[in-house]
Amino acid sequence: MSEILVNEPSFRFKQVEKAIYADFIEDWDNITNLPKKTREELAKNCSLGVQAELFTTKNKTQKVVITLNDGEKIESVLLRHKDDRNTVCVSSQVGCAMGCEFCATGTMGLKRNLEVSEIVEQVLYFARILKKEGSVKGITNIVFMGMGEPFLNYENVIKSIKILNDKNKFNIGARKISISTSGIIDGIKKLAKEDLQVNLAISLHATNDDLRTSLMRVNKKNPLGRLFEAIDYYIEKTSRKVMFEYVLIKDVNDQDVHARELAGLMNKHLYIVNLIQYNPTGKFKASDKKNIAKFKSILGGAGVEVTERYGFGQDISAACGQLVA
Ligand code: SAH
Ligand code: SF4
Repeated sequence: MSEILVNEPSFRFKQVEKAIYADFIEDWDNITNLPKKTREELAKNCSLGVQAELFTTKNKTQKVVITLNDGEKIESVLLRHKDDRNTVCVSSQVGCAMGCEFCATGTMGLKRNLEVSEIVEQVLYFARILKKEGSVKGITNIVFMGMGEPFLNYENVIKSIKILNDKNKFNIGARKISISTSGIIDGIKKLAKEDLQVNLAISLHATNDDLRTSLMRVNKKNPLGRLFEAIDYYIEKTSRKVMFEYVLIKDVNDQDVHARELAGLMNKHLYIVNLIQYNPTGKFKASDKKNIAKFKSILGGAGVEVTERYGFGQDISAACGQLVA
């Protein structure tokens, strides 16, 4: 694109970027103040199209399967909240190398990292849909909770966040953007040094090293002791809350003893726990409602700030950990 616009006055580039990332045009002819010849050349060389297949659930959650230029497929999800907020759950890699035992994406292995444009394109796709619907707020939140481990594609994830955050582009507040990591210590330390107010979520899911290593092999090289050191360093640098995600798996990590052990770990300023219902992917079962309630009350009783997230989109395999292309 920059090559085609090279002979145009410099404001043209900004104009085109605004048309794509803020007005969400789908056709070069929609930029009417661009010379016709330039538009034709752009149309010939830079496709604005996204090769996509869309699925919708009863509760209006939507999942898109995007086919990339090399034929690889990724998935992203649009969650529509009752208060008009719209969250896009984006993928950062094709597949994932981490192989967590409870996660469908983990069974794919890693195919490759996503380019910046491929990360941004997922948001663009849903932004266009919302614009056509006449949505007032458009996309309000982004979570890096789709396929892949964001901190193993660190540079491209940060670059894409800068585009999403840019006032002249998507203009999504950094505080409305969350990165979820399985616990890559280097990535947490790097993020601590960025001048970015994004949210950090840690997929904890276990309360001691033995249990965590058996569920998440990332824990071998990133054990809990050093992981918490990195998290505390992040909090010291940023003064931001850290969300610990804890998927409740029946008879594996959902007993009273685990709740008490978790309460011990979470007994710190700016730590919050988000309990997540397990979406069955074959291997394990979800904890029952009664167990979840008890688990939550043990944490609450110990003074831990705790929230609960229910699965959306299970019927189209759009829920967390079910993304597998
Ligand atoms: N790779 C990153 C981000 C993507 S996964 C990470 O692991 O943090 C997004 C969230 O869904 C993570 O907390 C992950 O642990 C969780 N998850 C994975 N499989 C799940 C499943 N079957 N049910 C519910 N949550 C799951
Ligand atoms: Fe990868 Fe996250 Fe799934 Fe683990 S939970 S396999 S890190 S996507």
